[in-house]
Amino acid sequence: MDLRFDNAFARELPADPEQGARLRQVHGALYSRVAPTPVAAPRLLAHSREMASRLGFDEAFVQSPRFAEVFAGNALLPGMLPIAANYGGHQFGHWAGQLGDGRAISLGELVTAQGERWELQLKGAGPTPYSRSADGRAVLRSSVREFLCSEAMHHLGVPTTRALSLVGTGEPVLRDMFYDGHPAPEQGAVVCRVAPSFIRFGNFELPSARGEHALLGQLVDFCIRRDFPELEGPGLREEWFGAVCDRTAEMVAHWMRVGFVHGVMNTDNMSILGLTIDYGPYGWIDDYDPDWTPNTTDKDRRRYRFGSQPMVAFWNLSRLAGALAPLFPDSAPLQAGLDRFASAWPRHERATCAAKLGLRAADDADLALWQDMLALLQAAEVDMTLWYRGLSSLDLAAADAAPALLPLEAAFYDRDKRDAQAPALRDWLARYALRVQRDEWAPADRRAAMDAANPRYVLRNYLAQEAIDRAAGGDPSGVAELLEVMRRPYADQPGREAFAARRPDWARNRAGCSMLSCSS
Ligand code: AMP
Ligand code: MG
Repeated sequence: MDLRFDNAFARELPADPEQGARLRQVHGALYSRVAPTPVAAPRLLAHSREMASRLGFDEAFVQSPRFAEVFAGNALLPGMLPIAANYGGHQFGHWAGQLGDGRAISLGELVTAQGERWELQLKGAGPTPYSRSADGRAVLRSSVREFLCSEAMHHLGVPTTRALSLVGTGEPVLRDMFYDGHPAPEQGAVVCRVAPSFIRFGNFELPSARGEHALLGQLVDFCIRRDFPELEGPGLREEWFGAVCDRTAEMVAHWMRVGFVHGVMNTDNMSILGLTIDYGPYGWIDDYDPDWTPNTTDKDRRRYRFGSQPMVAFWNLSRLAGALAPLFPDSAPLQAGLDRFASAWPRHERATCAAKLGLRAADDADLALWQDMLALLQAAEVDMTLWYRGLSSLDLAAADAAPALLPLEAAFYDRDKRDAQAPALRDWLARYALRVQRDEWAPADRRAAMDAANPRYVLRNYLAQEAIDRAAGGDPSGVAELLEVMRRPYADQPGREAFAARRPDWARNRAGCSMLSCSS
């Protein structure tokens, strides 16, 4: 196997003169060279066959002991150059100073035979200069979650970093899962994640905050060259910031469409390419609730709740604009980029409304119809995913008759709440039926369009948790099985109905299913 690495980030940008994992503040440099720390007994637990083949890794290599060694951090392939990036960020609204890759180590930028550039990055591969008080490791549960969700999001059509592999380390990691002063050993794992670029908003914020403006400019120009090759002409930096705003809006629009809650939208977790990045205490909406967040660390203020994500994305872009300001003579070009987000958002909202409701296009009245429905879903405790899939299968000619709610029955979590809202829901369905008839869209075509926007299968929190429990007990096959289902999220998959079921009662308040912490 002939692999070509072209480590542009490391080659073209200033390095920390010191190598190794000694904890330190790193000034005047964008990364540090640091090798992964080997682990006791690497074992491949799961891999993405799409990603493996995209990278040019054949199945024999993937199944070889060497693959597990490399993607646990015990060995390097020729051409790899391990580094940890130096970045800062705003965490929960506050500037946090230097953060950096505390447990991520990039191995190198692989250039495939097709000419694609993919950076390979281990998460949980040991300490770096940026590990602060932590150990640089990741536990099996959070690694399974990152591995599965990266690929699930890709198959859902949501921009995301990808995952190549999940490797068990054979070593325990000590974690205080509930932050209650009782740390316990858990199994460790390493995920190899993959993206064209792992540059974050925070990579720009740190040099800016330190007044290192030449370094900041160097990073911007590098990022434009390597990660935005489609941009050209004068006003390149302005165009680039506008493109970042566009991509961020698009990413969040997808999150809102599929019911994904990131959970920790700090600026160090915002990709410059508009990819979903850093899967931590993320979650999926079961019963529709715009105020929900899975992140227990954020449960009081709910800064990163589902419904706030578009606003938070804009706030984060504003922080990025602030960081870039020293590179511009005045604020007009940056304001123009932010305005692009502000004007794109209502378009995204309409498009999402139209796609999810099966309308050819949505106007203000349709948005109002949608909002009325969402309020009812919340009041009646209705499963978001099941509801939309159920809507596409309704016989709308009968929507104002009593049995109309039947196909949607599986979407309700609470009988009393359902009964209380049933009359209002029927009224709403009657309004909806009238609206749909106006489009004169053949029912089969309309249904196909709806089913292409409304997944049947999402990575429900409890499904991931079941796969984790099995993997922790020594059987990783549940991870592969779940990945297999998530490869075709919009298709009806006969025999796999259980994976589309609403959250069972046992999972309602169970750790890992409805509540997650950052401690992973
Ligand atoms: P997160 O909120 O998970 O994106 O992490 C925020 C910061 O904490 C980043 O700089 C991470 O690299 C760092 N971090 C999180 N967990 C660990 C860990 N176990 N060891 C070292 N650094 C960590
Ligand atoms: Mg992070």
